[in-house]
Amino acid sequence: MCLIQTIRNHKAVRQHWRCIYCDQPMWLKSPEAFAVRHKLTLEQALNLQLTAEHLRPRCEGGRHSYRNITAACLHCNRMRHQLGKQDLRPADYGSYVREELRLGRWHGIRIHRPD
Ligand SMILES: [Zn+2]
Repeated sequence: MCLIQTIRNHKAVRQHWRCIYCDQPMWLKSPEAFAVRHKLTLEQALNLQLTAEHLRPRCEGGRHSYRNITAACLHCNRMRHQLGKQDLRPADYGSYVREELRLGRWHGIRIHRPD
């Protein structure tokens, strides 16, 4: 396993396998099992694949360092770049994501944390 994956997995554990932005659970190995467990379609589950997110984007000089890498779902990671929001501070992007999710405009998945 390479350094980025090691850091990503460590951060995922620390975040209780929840995306840093949308706070939804993520999977690493089996989207099928994840979909069944959370009653999602496979298409929905694919959005929640664990990815390594660079808090400061690489294109802005962000490094492959423990401080700069966190765990985010594929959808949030991808959309940050597609929407041109990589300039937003991570906390501000997180606020944006959670508001979009609340309004039903994000990946449409809201799995609450177990009590
Ligand atoms: Zn997410």
